[in-house]
Amino acid sequence: MSNTNWSAGAAWMRGRVMPIAEASLPVTDWGLTHSDITYDVVHAWDGRFFRLDDYLSRFERSLEKCQLSIDQSRDDIRRILHRIVGQSGLQRAYVSFVASRGQPAIPGSRDPRDCVNHFYAWCVPFIWVFSEQVMQRGAHLFVPDDLHRISPDSVDPTAKNYHWGDFTRGLIAAKDAGYDNTVLIDNNGHVTEGPGFNLFIIKDNQVITPGSGVLEGITRKIAMELCAHQGLSVLQADVSLAQLLAADEVFATTTGGGIVPVSRINQHSFSNDGAGEATLALKDLYWQWHADDAMSEAVDYAPA
Ligand code: PLP
Repeated sequence: MSNTNWSAGAAWMRGRVMPIAEASLPVTDWGLTHSDITYDVVHAWDGRFFRLDDYLSRFERSLEKCQLSIDQSRDDIRRILHRIVGQSGLQRAYVSFVASRGQPAIPGSRDPRDCVNHFYAWCVPFIWVFSEQVMQRGAHLFVPDDLHRISPDSVDPTAKNYHWGDFTRGLIAAKDAGYDNTVLIDNNGHVTEGPGFNLFIIKDNQVITPGSGVLEGITRKIAMELCAHQGLSVLQADVSLAQLLAADEVFATTTGGGIVPVSRINQHSFSNDGAGEATLALKDLYWQWHADDAMSEAVDYAPA
């Protein structure tokens, strides 16, 4: 049965634009059976893609790191993203583009090189990684001590991926304990990131974000630019749990909401249990930058 509720979202698959409800993958696709897939997510805000070229460049790097090869060029992908958001009519959208290992051309082959890689894309109404109410009061994050981020030696966190076994365990532990979300430490006790976001601390006007073992978030990159604009210096370096808990302010960065104030981690609270002053200034500036045409491009709502 055809579902033409375009406002729920749209997808592009195998050369065709379709309502999101019609988009599906074969059950034997290695993206499903092996999490053998890479992807990226950009947002459209008030009818404009924000920093699209940054996201396209990261996707190209991820394809290379995962040894995935797709037929679509950067221009093709850009056109496809315009087509799906244009067709959906969504002004504020979460827009995902994905390359899966696909299925082997030789039935039963276990050799990844035999697979026909394939690209698809989809969009839905904008997704907040933290609810608007949590963004107001500051996020409460849980850092479990008995669960570590998958080692970067095993799965490269700089290639955006679906290996979320660690995050899912952390999220369930966090939710069960009454927190909004989780942040994982690595095998050396260094702070990494959370499911869908990077982390920053501010201590004595010095901003620090974990320098390795994390996704190079586009919002993380933008946050560094925002800090430079505010005259704050940023260090990319190892951050211990003790350093995190001793911070003056903590914030997260994500395409799903921008700069997110963090008010509690485990038993500790920051900035009087609310959003920090410097964080709020960065958050305001982040949204102001959305009005700068040089950082965004208008969605084509009448694509050819
Ligand atoms: N870290 C992880 C593991 C992510 O999945 C994401 C985004 O989904 C981020 C960080 C934040 O990256 P970005 O700012 O590009 O959304």
